[in-house]
Amino acid sequence: MITLALSKGRIFDETLPLLAAAGIEVTEDPDKSRKLILATTRPDVRVVLVRASDVPTYVQYGGADLGVTGLDVLLEGGGQGLYQPLDLQIAACRLSVAVRADYDYASAVKQGSRLTVATKYVNLSRNFFASKGVHVDLIKLYGSMELAPLTGLADAIVDLVSTGNTLKANHLVEVERIMDISARLVVNQAALKLKQAPIRRILDAFASALPQS
Ligand code: AMP
Repeated sequence: MITLALSKGRIFDETLPLLAAAGIEVTEDPDKSRKLILATTRPDVRVVLVRASDVPTYVQYGGADLGVTGLDVLLEGGGQGLYQPLDLQIAACRLSVAVRADYDYASAVKQGSRLTVATKYVNLSRNFFASKGVHVDLIKLYGSMELAPLTGLADAIVDLVSTGNTLKANHLVEVERIMDISARLVVNQAALKLKQAPIRRILDAFASALPQS
């Protein structure tokens, strides 16, 4: 049995065409059932639904053989011990710094002010601001980061931006792009040895379904 860990939403939806290229179709709709283990048209392949930030944990400890998760999750601290063979070029977005439209970020940075930054990505943010020599106090949040500058909790946020609509709706502006993010395939190293042939077949099918870069 090959177990693939996915999170619901964009990653699940955008992985389906890659699975199709590998001759695998998920036979249950996660939006219509509460099942966490989904069967596929291949009796030896199943999908498990986990939180995006739990995908590396499932794969690292063998709860799943393969998984799809964002580069943000892997770089923030979830990537240890995982084989990361493919950039799947899906769920593309960027990790950015955003502030209230009336906040003068450039001057604050130039004057060496100490910025308060709210984010789910404390490690990536610490490294980014340290590399710029900007002093920051980090506040860890688990969601609705956009609220922090609006309520006075923080001067800035570090969050994922895709269309920019969420920032715009909350009168925030993107002031720095930290890095481009996309979803990666991660593989359990032991599974790669023990189930080499079926896993290689999936890797090869995914790789050939990707646009050439
Ligand atoms: P948008 O309004 O399209 O810029 O999307 C921004 C919101 O969606 C923010 O709350 C982000 O945290 C979230 N988001 C955007 N892209 C992704 C992604 N690839 N994976 C997870 N969350 C995302």
